[in-house]
Amino acid sequence: MHEFAFAYDIFKVAEATAKKYNAKRITQVLLEIGELTLIVPELLKKSFEMATAGSIAEGAELVIQILPGKIRCRDCNKESNVTLTEEAQLTGLQLFRCGHCQSNNTEVIYGKSANVKNIKIQE
Ligand SMILES: [Zn+2]
Repeated sequence: MHEFAFAYDIFKVAEATAKKYNAKRITQVLLEIGELTLIVPELLKKSFEMATAGSIAEGAELVIQILPGKIRCRDCNKESNVTLTEEAQLTGLQLFRCGHCQSNNTEVIYGKSANVKNIKIQE
């Protein structure tokens, strides 16, 4: 259930930003998530509701933008976009083939991070 811990982190970031602007309420949080984080958006929204209950972010809308993952091939040095297969989502295994030379000697360079992009507040 890493969605809940993650939702709580998002809330803390949003809350700190809101305090800086003396906001009374947070009405919306815009979040970017790399596809390879294995975060389930619906679960995250539910967790966010729980994490913000009774706070200045209660009722805030969580807007989630999923960004595609990217890998770099260690053999040909080219980059490819990758998406998670259903199998990878079930097993948590993330092995990606280079889209250019089919090598699986690759490293993930993007898609495992998430960040709060913007928040909307009421002053
Ligand atoms: Zn390659």
